[in-house]
Amino acid sequence: MATEDAYTAEPFVPARGGLPALRKAAAACRGCPLHRDATQTVFGAGSADARVMLVGEQPGDQEDRQGKPFVGPAGRVLERALSEAGLDPADAYVTNAVKHFKFTQSEPRKRRIHKAPTLREAAACGPWLAAELAVVEPELIVVLGATAGKALLGSSFRVTQVRGTVLEEEIHGHPERLVPTVHPSSVLRADDREAAYRGLLADLKIAAQALE
Ligand code: SF4
Repeated sequence: MATEDAYTAEPFVPARGGLPALRKAAAACRGCPLHRDATQTVFGAGSADARVMLVGEQPGDQEDRQGKPFVGPAGRVLERALSEAGLDPADAYVTNAVKHFKFTQSEPRKRRIHKAPTLREAAACGPWLAAELAVVEPELIVVLGATAGKALLGSSFRVTQVRGTVLEEEIHGHPERLVPTVHPSSVLRADDREAAYRGLLADLKIAAQALE
């Protein structure tokens, strides 16, 4: 069996064919062990012409069951905040740094509890995100939370230090503009949800301005 260092989606990524070919190939990815317990690969969704790409952490329970990103409670927070910030959700490509749901479960049929992917798992899944970026070529990447930030910008990324700012970085050999913010699920976990939501909204407004 492959060691953790050898985990990578690379051999599964097709060289051509656009988003449909990527989505089809990702469904059969075995680049790391996360595919074993999850229901299915949850690939990104949206148009190849989208101006903005939103990158989250990994699918949650609902996303894993439905096979689509950001369709659970965090997705509803995100959709509301995008609309209020003036970013049309229909003009956004949404995806995750890791394409399979990682969770713990005390017993079969008990609730599946989200477990954050490791840096190695995010790195293993990185070739899918790189391929999505190469096809969509977004004008702006909105980085949703620490896992997405570390996957794109390296392990020293701290969302609290850079949220709501426009960064210019080279990612996979291409100059990109990025606006980091928190993951929308953190709004749902916050003691003061309203304040946390206002923070997310303020960051997304910066992203909307950067697209003007
Ligand atoms: S998490 Fe990513 S690298 Fe791992 S099996 Fe799923 S798609 Fe492949």
